[in-house]
Amino acid sequence: MRDADVHICECGPRDGLQNLAVFVPTEAKCALIDAIAAAGVKEVDAGSFVPPRVVPQFADVEAVTAHSLGRRDIVTGALVPNARGAERAIAAGVQAIYFVISASETHNLANVRRSVSEQLDGFRAVRAAIDASGRAARPHLMGAVATAFGCSLEGRVAEAAVRRLAIAFAESGADEIGLADTVGYGNPALIKTLVEAVRSDVGPAMPLRLHLHDTLGLGLANAYAGLEAGIRRFDAAVSGLGGCPFAPGARGNVVTEDLVFMLEELGMHTGIDLNRLMATREILARQIPAEHLTGHLHEAGIPKSLWRAA
Ligand code: ZN
Repeated sequence: MRDADVHICECGPRDGLQNLAVFVPTEAKCALIDAIAAAGVKEVDAGSFVPPRVVPQFADVEAVTAHSLGRRDIVTGALVPNARGAERAIAAGVQAIYFVISASETHNLANVRRSVSEQLDGFRAVRAAIDASGRAARPHLMGAVATAFGCSLEGRVAEAAVRRLAIAFAESGADEIGLADTVGYGNPALIKTLVEAVRSDVGPAMPLRLHLHDTLGLGLANAYAGLEAGIRRFDAAVSGLGGCPFAPGARGNVVTEDLVFMLEELGMHTGIDLNRLMATREILARQIPAEHLTGHLHEAGIPKSLWRAA
């Protein structure tokens, strides 16, 4: 089987559900992960190890990750906000841990009530906990820079703040660095500049991932700019799940289906069966109000005359 040219992590089950008012039943979350894996996606961000009183949606994160881990065909990841969350994630056996720190000091305080430097201490504690866990296959640890391309509270975020944080992640033992356009204020020029700057800071051996939102309609343009800057690892959410809590009704993450279509049209192999990926819509439509479900391919259909199955 041909290796994929581009790696996509499906973050719908986590980013897509975290701000949703309705609780999606555990069985539906598991069915969604099964459908994502069946379509050929190789990594899923399955939930967040936060206290249930903070985000009730993830009260069942242990059950959902256990289900996902039962599959051999997908890497099961989860977000953790602190060392306590990491302990739970390690105990659950997740294979990838995503630790998020905002480049915007204001956003970080609002999000986790800690300063950037306190959060970095937390990241180092997570690194230490993973190293001390004694597991044969240690979970992959990604340090993600949130609000890297703009912040709903601070507006533009200084390039230096993003670069400092990326360097700190690298020096603190990150296996991968993510750059997240958390609120979707990025533009293609900014993506290209910042990816190239961070790449030169952390060196070519460090995997870099882009996490994009389509709030202002620039999600795919930004993904293309990332590709041009050498990015081959992306987060995306089926049906564009994941609205911004500060902009009700705004579009969410870049749509996995549309991203896969674009990449394949560009001649890049994703290993994902688009028709099967589109079938995830049925699972979502039974649980989630229609206004949260977007995507150009879902609106237009896959053009039969254009598309040959991968
Ligand atoms: Zn996001």
